[in-house]
Amino acid sequence: MLSARNRLLPRRVLQSVRTLATTLDQITPPQGFEARTPPYAKLINNLATVKKVLNNQPLTLAEKILYSHLVNPEELAIGNGSSKNIRGIEYLKLNPDRVAMQDASAQMALLQFITCGMPSTAVPASIHCDHLIVGKQGAEEDLVASISTNKEVFDFLQSCGEKFGIQFWGPGSGIIHQIVLENFSVPGLMMLGTDSHTPNAGGLGAIAIGVGGADAVDALTGTPWELKAPKILGVKLTGTMNGWTSPKDVITHLTGLLTVRGGTGFIVEYFGEGVKQLSCTGMATICNMGAEIGATTSTFPMQEAHYKYLHATNRGPIADLAKQVNKDYGFMTADEGCEYDQVVEIDLNTLEPSVNGPFTPDLSTPISKLKDTTKEQKWPQEITAGLIGSCTNSSYQDMSRAVSIIKQAESAGLKPKIPFFVTPGSEQVRATIERDGLIDTFEKNGAIVLANACGPCIGQWDRGENAPKDTNVIFTSFNRNFRARNDGNRNTMNFLTSPDIVTAMIYSGDMNFNPMTDSIKLSNGENFKFNPPSGADLPSEGFLRGREKFYPELEPQPKPEVEVNVSPESDRLEF
Ligand code: SF4
Repeated sequence: MLSARNRLLPRRVLQSVRTLATTLDQITPPQGFEARTPPYAKLINNLATVKKVLNNQPLTLAEKILYSHLVNPEELAIGNGSSKNIRGIEYLKLNPDRVAMQDASAQMALLQFITCGMPSTAVPASIHCDHLIVGKQGAEEDLVASISTNKEVFDFLQSCGEKFGIQFWGPGSGIIHQIVLENFSVPGLMMLGTDSHTPNAGGLGAIAIGVGGADAVDALTGTPWELKAPKILGVKLTGTMNGWTSPKDVITHLTGLLTVRGGTGFIVEYFGEGVKQLSCTGMATICNMGAEIGATTSTFPMQEAHYKYLHATNRGPIADLAKQVNKDYGFMTADEGCEYDQVVEIDLNTLEPSVNGPFTPDLSTPISKLKDTTKEQKWPQEITAGLIGSCTNSSYQDMSRAVSIIKQAESAGLKPKIPFFVTPGSEQVRATIERDGLIDTFEKNGAIVLANACGPCIGQWDRGENAPKDTNVIFTSFNRNFRARNDGNRNTMNFLTSPDIVTAMIYSGDMNFNPMTDSIKLSNGENFKFNPPSGADLPSEGFLRGREKFYPELEPQPKPEVEVNVSPESDRLEF
């Protein structure tokens, strides 16, 4: 049996005393990144206890991250040496590292937090003003109008942020999950978010769980947060994506396989050779829509893509530390021989783009069958609008692939046949795609670039006087498509697909069109056919921060003297 001291030594230390591997007391958060670095030393120490209690049983990645956040890791002794006796049965008491809240759900969470009388939150937290911004004419006009309409809410949230030392990301700064990915998500982190697509952060190797306000208050007050130990669903990715296939198709396909209930009670953990090909933001897209199969969350093992993304988003020191910790302790990687409760395999070689909908995300149709299915189901043939963006698909990679399609059409003299809207996920993405000429290409080709916010994804879409009142089809790169979700019209059929397919479809406006195989007749009589899209995972010149007014202080300190601002006329907020 290992002594307590030896248990804390990294595996390479155990192999060679001459190794240069880090010891736990060397694992300290890099200066300036303290609030954004998971407490790795403590987590690894906890994991050593977990391993001992579970007789060194190989663990999945999700279990490692989750169990290392237990308030009392010894409590896993209830499993009698096996995590199989815990999964789906026992309740875990956990200490999350961080909380993120969006403006709609943050109101109740913060009103509850205030009643606890604490001067500051027990863990770092952030507020994101993204859900209340209407998309209509374009970013500038829409933002001014929405700030005016929702002023009392934004003022309240901002004053709470100042008083309790919570980061306040104001209206126009971006969508909660994209901002979390760019700033807070890190391999090994465990966080809660008051939004169902919080698992987006799993694309960067975190365990990130969407919760209600009361659960968030547990974490904000340092009260252990309870979760029934999830089962683990392994998704093995094999082969290589090619052509028109993108990460979105992994999750739309999986949603079709598993249905909207198939992930209930599970954490989805991806593994296999196919993972190596994915960008960090592509992995986030996949984790984001794990919510559509009802999964507790989804996550990926640490990859080179994570390391590059952390560096590209100005978190190089955290990237270096995470890489070292993973190398020395295997903390962000599943143990060899770990057991999943269920395994699904997806061959990326043969995966084709899917179109999911209408009215449920698990009705998945491969693009090659869309024409026939449209006929069978008597869906309208005409498409009335295309929308790309949202927290699911608003990365630099998504935008650059969409622009590669637009440029092909532009060269052929084609114009979009239907309205086209673009929602950048954050000020950083917006500023970067503006610098790189992508916004110019979008706008020159008729797109309306909306504010960095949720907008049409959450019913905040004003389609103007000519909004269709009856059954009509839209194509979006969003994640949800229940009735009335986008424009308030219960008859709008939202088909979820990749930004690539949405962008190609705006040039046909026709459900029967398959951009992979079909041509569009040009005015000169020639036939035009798209080539598969291409894009960059990360901008070659790096990300641009954009307008500083959208960036809050990195580690705000509480200011007890600040009064919480609740308008006396408010009919939305009340103490
Ligand atoms: S973009 Fe849509 S799915 Fe994402 S956080 Fe906003 S409303 Fe939710």
